[in-house]
Amino acid sequence: MSNAPRNAAANRDWGHDETGCTVLHIDMDAFYASLEIARHPELSGRPVVIGMGNRAVVSAANYEARKFGIYSSMPSAKARQLCPHAAFLPVDIAYYRTVSHQIFTDIFSKVTDQIEQVSVDECYMDVSGALLRWHSTTQIGAWLRAQVANHFHITCSVGIAANKLVAKMASTNAKPNGMLLIPRALSAEFLQMMPLRAIPGIGPSMERKLLGWGVTSVTQLAQLSELELAGIVKSPTHAHRLYLACRGMDERKVTPYTPEKSIGCERTFDEDTRDESRVAGLLRHCCDKVAHSLRDRGLLARTVSVKLRFDDLSYATRTRQLDAPTDAASKLFPFAVEMLHALLGMDPSRAAYRELPRAVRLAGVSVSSLTEASRTAVQLSLDDMLDEQQDEHHSEAQSQRLREAERALDAVRNKFGSGAAHLGA
Ligand SMILES: [Mg+2]
Repeated sequence: MSNAPRNAAANRDWGHDETGCTVLHIDMDAFYASLEIARHPELSGRPVVIGMGNRAVVSAANYEARKFGIYSSMPSAKARQLCPHAAFLPVDIAYYRTVSHQIFTDIFSKVTDQIEQVSVDECYMDVSGALLRWHSTTQIGAWLRAQVANHFHITCSVGIAANKLVAKMASTNAKPNGMLLIPRALSAEFLQMMPLRAIPGIGPSMERKLLGWGVTSVTQLAQLSELELAGIVKSPTHAHRLYLACRGMDERKVTPYTPEKSIGCERTFDEDTRDESRVAGLLRHCCDKVAHSLRDRGLLARTVSVKLRFDDLSYATRTRQLDAPTDAASKLFPFAVEMLHALLGMDPSRAAYRELPRAVRLAGVSVSSLTEASRTAVQLSLDDMLDEQQDEHHSEAQSQRLREAERALDAVRNKFGSGAAHLGA
């Protein structure tokens, strides 16, 4: 459930020029609460809060409940104080996932396969190909909304724009049960109506920092050069994204993916080897590949496995849970080496590379227990990084910087090829 800042004045008719507007952002309105009301029609019109119990937090609240100041992640006990007569229901995530799957397969995939599912109730759609069959993007949006309402008795909001950033902000401002088209030529004007906090990457402490520089609006943010922005946020990647964002621009493509169970990389040596440095080097390469895929797909992994195949063609694997989910090769690699040693019964304390007790034919790394980075609480935001001077997140901020460095490498590799750069181990 989105508590994203918005501007009511932006929810107006922006005209009908759809040229280049091929990205839709579709977001179910109060999804969990709406599904409960759809299967318990007697709750209709009442405030409904999903998440109950003494120590529970609110997972979702319908718009009637939000009028009482209830929002997601608030303790349920607090919500009960604010609105004692609301209907409180337990979370039935299995049911919500089942319906979500039906909506995506029965309705969304009828339009296109260019769908990037962000969460159980939210996706981007690139309809540039689908427009060969459909009259217009708004026609697609209207059809999707009608289908969802007719078949599932819930509503969704749709943003239509030239890129993901503007489409998502459009759907946020269209909520609930609305559709908003932002013509490409008006993207910057629309964005600059938003409060600073509406821009992804600007949280409370980033906002404070910008206020300190005299920047109080997105319009003023757009007056800063990319270099000035980099000086403020201390990260070229974020500065670039902000520079584009306040102009209504976004370079990210809609990347279709079906939620995956695992991501792996393995390679067979040209000839079997007992050279530990070669096997470790290959594991490092696999960690890089796997971490790159995770970042590409916006996922974090909590489990890492190493697989070895020996000269007699037998296999051995070992798996480890990480303390915190990650998408950084520098986090995965030390565990991969540790598992390599464990698999071969080697003393892990010796630092130098040795001859392995068995000849290795193939080695590989895979990760599983995948979660969406944007939904995983442990991931630090830019805001947390700025807060690091003031609080105890120091080591987390450090690991965030490593991830940041790897992400910067992604950009170099995308431009110059995968062998162009790597991080020193
Ligand atoms: Mg939603």
